[in-house]
Amino acid sequence: MSAEHELEVLNPATEEVVATVPAADAADVDRAVARAAVAQRSWAAAAPADRARLLRRFADVVDTHIEELAQLEVREAGHLLGNARWEAGNARDLLLYAAGGAERLLGKQIPVPGGWNVTFQEPLGVVGVIAPWNFPMPIAAWGSFPALAAGNAVVLKPAETTPLTALRLAELALDAGLPEGLFQVLPGYGHIAGRALVDHPDVAKIVFTGSTRTGREVMERCARLVKPVTLELGGKSPNIVFADADLKRAIDPFSFLDNSGQDCCARTRILVQESVHDEVRDLLADALSTVVVGDPADEKTQMGPLISRQQLDRVRSFVPDDAPALRGSAPDGPGFWFAPTVLTGERHDSAAACEEIFGPVAVLLPFTDEQDAIRLANDTPYGLAGSLWTRDLGRALRVSQAVRAGNLSVNSHSAVRYWTPFGGLKQSGVGRELGPDALAAFTETKNVFISTEGPAQ
Ligand code: NDP
Repeated sequence: MSAEHELEVLNPATEEVVATVPAADAADVDRAVARAAVAQRSWAAAAPADRARLLRRFADVVDTHIEELAQLEVREAGHLLGNARWEAGNARDLLLYAAGGAERLLGKQIPVPGGWNVTFQEPLGVVGVIAPWNFPMPIAAWGSFPALAAGNAVVLKPAETTPLTALRLAELALDAGLPEGLFQVLPGYGHIAGRALVDHPDVAKIVFTGSTRTGREVMERCARLVKPVTLELGGKSPNIVFADADLKRAIDPFSFLDNSGQDCCARTRILVQESVHDEVRDLLADALSTVVVGDPADEKTQMGPLISRQQLDRVRSFVPDDAPALRGSAPDGPGFWFAPTVLTGERHDSAAACEEIFGPVAVLLPFTDEQDAIRLANDTPYGLAGSLWTRDLGRALRVSQAVRAGNLSVNSHSAVRYWTPFGGLKQSGVGRELGPDALAAFTETKNVFISTEGPAQ
């Protein structure tokens, strides 16, 4: 087979080949979409309670495979074992949550003269989900499971580097009794299989998570077919630390080191009020020096490798050897390792301070007062997430209203929860996933007026 026709999955901690899987081409996408369209018609016609029952059974099957899925994620993505277990559990929990949504997908009855007016939330049809490599399992689940619950079929293209957990989820769906063709996973290259899914006239919506650059292309191509999109794109999120904050909690280095910094919500711009800048720098230096970087399967490890050689080269390009920085340590030898790093000599408009690096690298930037903090926080094309730390309640409220980002946490670096909405402003995305309205994004509202007029007298 040629390289175009297969994907080699590497363990990023060892560079060993974990698996080789066939890569889908446009004809495979065609066949998958046709199968999905057939499966979707009977799925949409099934009673909501029956759809919910099958999704709950799928959740039960995932639950009995948490350890297997987690071990697979450690091998293909280099995730810490504890994190990977949480991620598999997140897929299970979202299935249960979405199943309840299937039973509560209500229309409205709207008072009108001369009759009754009702609305229906109808499924879209076949939904295409394109997932990235940073959180292969949760992001595949966030795009796919609410879509299924709302009565759609899903064709999912995972990232070329991390197809294995998604493929296993699709097998588990069949084991649970989900109809053949309803939830299909097609590993493949973005420019081939991903593009074919985006361009397919019978794919009713695309849910894309990845870089802003590719997301823009997906949106442009969908526009030609007037196809709706949900886009979850990049971020350069601020961590705003006021002088009155609990500094130790505020500068928790895992706010940007979790998943080796390959997290669109990573708080990679540490904005610190001038008067506590030096204290924060010293706290950060201590914290970085104790971070344990190494084998992700070892439960004592706190940070694993980057996903690929390409990503390692990208991260390195932002951190010259002589850049002023606080640095932790990382293993040598095989594997894609980069030490935890905080750059201390950057201007707020430098490449490292503005671009999404997607590695264990943050910048430390001082601000003078509340207005300056808000100005710096918003001085970015992104608007995904952010944290702010202060004991002043009024300031917490003012700043959380002023910062243009979709997901903010006050005195916390809280993670994404499946039962609260998630998504970005500005160039961080379009639409929302998760939360109580997740299913609505996979429906169209149909309005029906029923006349109550009797026969003419
Ligand atoms: P991409 O955005 O290119 O990839 C995300 C997904 O889109 C993958 O499944 C990819 O397939 C697919 N894809 C690529 N090109 C197309 C296309 N033309 N049409 C349809 N689908 C396509 O991200 P990269 O993997 O290249 O990562 C580069 C940078 O993107 C990272 O350094 C990071 O900054 C950012 N990123 C952000 C993420 C986020 O969660 N916001 C997630 C991942 C990356 P394939 O795997 O074959 O390329």
